Amino acid sequence: MMASNKPIYCDTCDSFEPHRPLSGEEKAWLKDRIRARNVDNYLMCTAEGCRNLRTGMNKAPFTPELRVPPPPE
Ligand SMILES: [Zn+2]
Repeated sequence: MMASNKPIYCDTCDSFEPHRPLSGEEKAWLKDRIRARNVDNYLMCTAEGCRNLRTGMNKAPFTPELRVPPPPE
């Protein structure tokens, strides 16, 4: 897990933005969505309205990009 809050590049924003690890619910969603057993290396862009996913190493692991669905109101 990335311990740093230092902004990293977001391919969708095309700028350096804060990212955070996924919550338990978000991980469950992603595991089902991409059929992966472990999604601990994914980070979500926290820029307003973005929610794009990347890993620490890969700025664009999905084509097209994959965004975490917003939480229900
Ligand atoms: Zn972004």
